[in-house]
Amino acid sequence: MMNTPLEILKLVFGYGSFRRGQEEIINEIMSGRDVLGIMPTGAGKSVCYQIPSIMASGVSIVLSPLISLMKDQVDALRQNGVQAAAINSSMDWEDVLSTLRLAKQGKISMLYIAPERLGGEGFRDFLSSVGISLVIVDEAHCVSQWGHDFRPSYLAIAPVVSALPSCPTVAAFTATATPEVREDIIKQLRLRSPFVLTTGFDRENLFFQVESPADKIEYLMEYVRKFPDMPGIIYCSTRKTVESVCGTLAARGVKAVRYHAGLEDSERLKNQEDFIYDRATAMVATNAFGMGIDKSNVRYVIHYNMPGSIDNYYQEAGRAGRDGVPADCILLFGRQDIATARFLISKGEDEGTKKTAYRKLRDMIDYCHTGGCLRRHILNYFGETGGADGCGECGNCRSVTERRDITVEAQKILSCVYRAAEKTGGKTYGMAMLSDILRGRSTSGVRREQIISLGLDAVSTWGIMKEYTPGELMDMSNFLIAEGYLKADTEFGTLSFTDRSFPFLKSKSRLLMRRHEERTRKPAFKINSKDGKAPFGMFEALRKVRREIADAEKVPPYVVFSDKTLSAMCEAAPSDEDELLSIPGVGGTKLEKYGAQFLSAIRKWMENNN
Ligand code: ADP
Ligand code: ZN
Repeated sequence: MMNTPLEILKLVFGYGSFRRGQEEIINEIMSGRDVLGIMPTGAGKSVCYQIPSIMASGVSIVLSPLISLMKDQVDALRQNGVQAAAINSSMDWEDVLSTLRLAKQGKISMLYIAPERLGGEGFRDFLSSVGISLVIVDEAHCVSQWGHDFRPSYLAIAPVVSALPSCPTVAAFTATATPEVREDIIKQLRLRSPFVLTTGFDRENLFFQVESPADKIEYLMEYVRKFPDMPGIIYCSTRKTVESVCGTLAARGVKAVRYHAGLEDSERLKNQEDFIYDRATAMVATNAFGMGIDKSNVRYVIHYNMPGSIDNYYQEAGRAGRDGVPADCILLFGRQDIATARFLISKGEDEGTKKTAYRKLRDMIDYCHTGGCLRRHILNYFGETGGADGCGECGNCRSVTERRDITVEAQKILSCVYRAAEKTGGKTYGMAMLSDILRGRSTSGVRREQIISLGLDAVSTWGIMKEYTPGELMDMSNFLIAEGYLKADTEFGTLSFTDRSFPFLKSKSRLLMRRHEERTRKPAFKINSKDGKAPFGMFEALRKVRREIADAEKVPPYVVFSDKTLSAMCEAAPSDEDELLSIPGVGGTKLEKYGAQFLSAIRKWMENNN
């Protein structure tokens, strides 16, 4: 008798219910309709195509951009008893042939391949002869030149697939949200009136926070020291920063590794594997790291510098907590980050691209300065308007950051914008100029001359904020922009009024701004290795068992069981196989393979601790 998708979900993957969107996508694929699934990282895209592949007769092809990604997925599937295999460029021809032979004999149900393979004639012949019924395109945005990860090899997918005699169903998946890329995927992959499903972009288990510590490295150390065994990623904007941060952490006893484009391939690979296999706990990297990394137990992503856009930020931060267990996403903002980001953009060639980049940077700066809900801010950016209320859980909603009243300061800054324009026939000025006027003195000779020749030293706001540093004025101006009281020209950064400016000046409403700390403060930890009440000691004991099994099986620990599954074991403390099977993430195959080891570890821990 055939199992239903829900039964397969329990039997093979060990989960009791579908997540949002999964069941619909599975049903559409099984009915033979092309599908485009747009879900954020960690939402559970894999199950959407793995279940139809398991249920289909014959072989499903999964096109995936990276070898590491394929290896991970194949490992995970085999752990669950699914016959999966990968063909990649690192294999010799003998291995490729024998894998193909197995597929032809019906002994493989999922075959992962890199799109580059499709170029080979022999390989295309093979595909025609096997009767492929389903083709899955993972990271489908790689087909679009408008996305950020364009891969020319993806363009070969549509011609090859549409020439197959079996006319397979095509299911494409991505986490990229923008409508242009979405349309382009449908066009480039030639999806035939596809079923398009977008789940929300919210990731409930992620905790968002922006901090401006006076000393970033001290903040980081304090954070990492608190949970030295928890894997996390620290993103830096330049190679140089990666080197210095990684060096400092390592010198102070943290198991940190580095990753950036300037390293030898071999070192990059080794460091990546050390991180994936939990041998190193902190991965210090540029944005070159992360695509295709499936590691589900990343407990925090700290941005040591502000990234260039919210798109990048959310993608990188989203690598935390894929297992659904609470994880931290903390951005350490420093004023210098704005200059660095602007510099990186200014090096670009194409004016159009640069303009877009400056606009996106503005949105990112706004995120760092807003006093509103950080989660809402991100979701709004992706076009999810939703409720006006905050999430109640991010750094801003929980007000873990102190605030101060800047009503008077805001009035002065707005007045200065107004007076300067009034004096000079409506001209607008950037922050540096306005800050000179407000402070009544110049930090640059060129600006001093400009101020005098324009007569700006005669406006009534000249020197009314002498006691502030240029940095403080910049923070406040950025806050006013983020909150919509001022508008910054995308390219030149000159400030002008919005429709909120006059009403604010007239009203008596108070304005509270996040305090930019000049001293290091205790980070607001929310890392929860134990997902609630479960005993931490037991979690550590189970992690050890998992570690031993992973070493023996030569797979990453989270492929054996996720952190979420381990926490659930701690909470329920199952005493027999049936109870263990009811834990999310424990399917039939894993119960058979590892059940006894975990049950005995749990029993032992209970005996010793009760
Ligand atoms: P994505 O590819 O969308 O980033 P994954 O497919 O890697 O996400 O899934 C993320 C995690 O969620 C994995 O650990 C996966 O096993 C788990 N997962 C997927 N579907 C379910 C479900 N229905 N119930 C519980 N966990 C699930
Ligand atoms: Zn919030």
